[in-house]
Amino acid sequence: MSTDQNKFQAIISHCKEYGFVFQSSEIYDGLSAVYDYGQYGAELKKNIKDYWWKSMTQLHEDIVGIDAAIFMHPTTWKASGHVDNFSDPMIDNKDSNKRYRVDHLIEGHAETLSPEAGEALLAQMDELLKENDFAGLKTLIEENKIKCSVSGTVNWTEVRQFNLMFSTQLGSVTDEASEIYLRPETAQGIFVNFLNVQKTGRMKIPFGIAQIGKAFRNEIVARQFIFRMREFEQMEMQFFIRPGTQKEWYEKWKEERLQWHLSLGTDPAKYHFKDHIKLAHYADAAVDIEYEFPFGFKEVEGIHSRTDFDLKQHQEFSKKKLQYFDTEINQNYVPYVIETSIGLDRMFLLTICNAYEEQDLSTPEKADSRVVLKLPAKLSPIKLAIFPLTKKDGLPELAKELMNECKPFFHCYYEEKDSIGKRYRRQDAIGTPFCITIDHQTKEDGTVTIRHRDSMEQERIPLSEVRNLVLNKIV
Ligand code: ATP
Repeated sequence: MSTDQNKFQAIISHCKEYGFVFQSSEIYDGLSAVYDYGQYGAELKKNIKDYWWKSMTQLHEDIVGIDAAIFMHPTTWKASGHVDNFSDPMIDNKDSNKRYRVDHLIEGHAETLSPEAGEALLAQMDELLKENDFAGLKTLIEENKIKCSVSGTVNWTEVRQFNLMFSTQLGSVTDEASEIYLRPETAQGIFVNFLNVQKTGRMKIPFGIAQIGKAFRNEIVARQFIFRMREFEQMEMQFFIRPGTQKEWYEKWKEERLQWHLSLGTDPAKYHFKDHIKLAHYADAAVDIEYEFPFGFKEVEGIHSRTDFDLKQHQEFSKKKLQYFDTEINQNYVPYVIETSIGLDRMFLLTICNAYEEQDLSTPEKADSRVVLKLPAKLSPIKLAIFPLTKKDGLPELAKELMNECKPFFHCYYEEKDSIGKRYRRQDAIGTPFCITIDHQTKEDGTVTIRHRDSMEQERIPLSEVRNLVLNKIV
């Protein structure tokens, strides 16, 4: 069995080999930290998206979904604080010209120390980050003799802020007024539409607005496959509440979001909460839900108590009132907001990492192994694979009849090439929960063999029950 790092490399190779994730523009040697989803990846990603959307909107009568544009008026990002604040402290090595995010550089060094020394170093770093003490951070790096991995030297520049937003020009005239940004988060599309949705949907506080969409960040250190990308997708929900109730709603959403993750069957020990030490400029409380990836516990979702910061800022910059009249207490106010924000691509990576298993199936007689993706059936790209045992005797016709019966309801895959064993293994590798084999007995008694991915058990069931059996497992 692989070690965790080897396992991660194996997962990356598996994603490529089985059509889940490709490097963007691979024929041109790729574009750093940008990825494309292949035929099975696109299905899995869409299923994760649908699962989130359904649980946030359909199952919550007080949450509605929108789809705002990626481009927004440039003042949006002035008001939100992204133009001035959306930056990370960076440091360059003068010999290699390689740029590092200061926290990543120090964290990398901390991992090479004893657990106590590493923790002490990180505590010092957190303190300096909280104070925005850039000179102190540089001294910390120098005192600990933290080297550049390329040049091997400690010849560092000053620590500087670097804005993570991509900008582009709107229209053909290149002047400053036409400079716009690719949104670095989807949340602002929700804030600027707060009143539109509240009024047209006759929404009463508390209520939420959900959105799924692309976000763009010019990440300096883009590593770990699709964990940190420059173009990625977020699934965010802003929940608008009465001022003063934020603590209660924050706790509620923390718990609710963790339960969403656990509803997919993941071992609870793989998750934990991590409170933010340095709060973003808009938050009065923030926590990350972290999952144990093969490279350690890392953030997959953030829950933030964003106060009334964003709406108040937009009110001030747009000169339009963004208030709500609460008939229960006869008061006008700018609502407070609890945000839940999860990266779709990170959730995809989590799902694959959690599902990936290399199994040794050797017997004394024969060496054997398989790679299986134990995906939750509702997320699997293909729900049902249908195999005629042979290409003749009317078996393909029966198999195609079953395909036609099932495919309007869920994604099916038909295959008649190779041995049944090989066909099973290919489906295991993409996480198909059920395979059906049509054989000669099917013609006699109308039964088929269903083979279960995780247990590899096989049983005979009536052909007429296949569709409902699968449907019951995927809703
Ligand atoms: P990080 O600390 O990892 O940079 P963040 O705290 O800046 O993340 P948020 O702004 O809270 O992230 O964004 C919410 C979610 O969006 C994150 O929990 C993560 O799942 C996802 N996300 C953020 N940046 C990226 C990225 N560059 N690539 C992929 N997903 C991302």
